[in-house]
Amino acid sequence: MEKKTTKKAGKAGTRGNGPRADSAAAKRYDWQGGGWLRKTTRRRIYMRDDFCCIYCGASALDSAVSLTVDHVLPRELGGTNAHSNLVTCCKSCNSSKQDKPLARFLRKIELDKGIDGETVARRIRNTTRRQLPKLAQ
Ligand SMILES: [Zn+2]
Repeated sequence: MEKKTTKKAGKAGTRGNGPRADSAAAKRYDWQGGGWLRKTTRRRIYMRDDFCCIYCGASALDSAVSLTVDHVLPRELGGTNAHSNLVTCCKSCNSSKQDKPLARFLRKIELDKGIDGETVARRIRNTTRRQLPKLAQ
């Protein structure tokens, strides 16, 4: 490998072993990747939902599906960041749901993918009632 001279000379003390668990930097780090949701909360939502998309059932455990967290009631329509309004959702479903009200999106996946909307609605009700699991630390 060739060495390049770089203008970005690292300031002393800014590089190293990553943020300590209790530092302000760690707290900032915890909020990265989406911005609006703590990484740890995101992980706990995935755990609660068994790493499966709540809508189509795609599982990140046995395929390369990318997971996101979705607001059941979109924020545009007054949905909050409460755990009971957040579900695991694959990128494909998330981009097709956008800010649609749930009922409209359920009709859409019923038509597009043959997924029974009533089953999904029941799954959402059962899932969002559950507590988020604690992370082992
Ligand atoms: Zn999906």
